[in-house]
Amino acid sequence: MSVINVKEISQRLKDQIKAEVASLIKEDRRVPHLSAIMVGDNPASKAYVGNKVKTCDEVGFLSTVHHLREDTSYFELEQLILQLNEDPSVDGFILQLPLPAHLDGQELLQLISPDKDVDGFHPMNVGRMVLGLEGFLPATPYGIMLLLEELEVDTQGKRCAILGRSDIVGTPMAILMSRKGKYQNSTVTLLHSRTKDLTSELQRAEIIVAAIGIPDFVTGDMVRNGTVVIDVGINQIEDRSKKKGYRLTGDVDFASVSSKASMITPVPGGVGLMTILGLMKNTLKAYHLRTTYE
Ligand code: NDP
Repeated sequence: MSVINVKEISQRLKDQIKAEVASLIKEDRRVPHLSAIMVGDNPASKAYVGNKVKTCDEVGFLSTVHHLREDTSYFELEQLILQLNEDPSVDGFILQLPLPAHLDGQELLQLISPDKDVDGFHPMNVGRMVLGLEGFLPATPYGIMLLLEELEVDTQGKRCAILGRSDIVGTPMAILMSRKGKYQNSTVTLLHSRTKDLTSELQRAEIIVAAIGIPDFVTGDMVRNGTVVIDVGINQIEDRSKKKGYRLTGDVDFASVSSKASMITPVPGGVGLMTILGLMKNTLKAYHLRTTYE
C-alpha cells in the first residue's frame, strides 16, 4: 500500500503555476486575479476562503475578498456579481457556499458569467463538461483528475465506484471518469443513499472515490485488495486531546482500508489540497482566455 503524497504533488503543480506567473511579471504583464464573495461568518467558509487567498499569494495571483454581512439582500449580491462580471481586472470569481438560508445559491450562481466561473458550477460549464467541450471543471473533481494523471493511475476500462452524487463532487466525478481520455474511460457506478447492496458494489470496484460526508464510512471489508482509494470526505470529529477540540477524518476508515488499497489519499492533506489547485488552474485558464482578447 502507498499513501499518496498529495502534499508533494500539489506543491509541484503549484510551483509550475508560480513559474508561469513569474514569467508574466518578467514580461511586465498583469498577474491573474481571483475574487471571492463570502456572505456571513460561517467558520468553515472563512477557513476555505482564507486558504484560497493564501494559495493565491503563494503562486503570485492577485486576490480580493468581498466579505458581506449575513443579512445581505439578494439584490445587493446580484449587483456585486454583475459588477464582477464586468470588472476587466477580475479574471474569475467564486461565490463561497453555503449561503445564508434567505439567499438562493443555485439562482445566484447562474448570474456569474460562465467565462469567469472558475468554480465550474454554472450550467453552461456543467454542460460543457458533459459534452467534453472546453470549459471550467468543478475544482474538486478537476483536482482529482490531475492527481490521477500525476500518479499515472491506469483507469482504462476499470470499474470505478463513486460514492455520493452531489452536484459539486460525485456527479461530475462520475461524468469525468466515464468520458474518453487517457486517465478516464472507466466503467462507472454512481452510488448514493438509495443504492441497494452498496457493499458488494464497492467490493467490485478497482477505483473508489468516496464523497458522502460520513466519517470512516468505507471500511476494509468493503474494499478488494489493490483498489485505488480517493477519499474526498472532510469530517470534524470531536477530540478533546486536540487544541481545536476536534480532528479531521475522511469518509474512509484509513486504518482498515489502507491495508488493502494499492494507493490511498490521506485526510487531512489529501484531496482538499488538489481542490485548491483545481481552482488556481481554472483561474489561470480564465486569465489566458481574457488576455487573448486584451
Ligand atoms: P453532499 O452532502 O452534498 O452529498 C452526499 C452524498 O452522499 C449524497 O449523494 C447522498 O446521497 C450520499 N449519501 C449520504 N449518505 C449515504 C449513505 N449512507 N450511503 C450512500 N450514500 C450516501 O456532500 P458533498 O459531495 O458536498 O461532500 C461529501 C464530503 O466531501 C463531505 O465530507 C465534504 O466535507 C467533503 N468535501 C471535500 C472537498 C475537498 O476539497 N476535499 C470538497 C467538497 C466536499 P443522496 O443523494 O441519495 O442523498
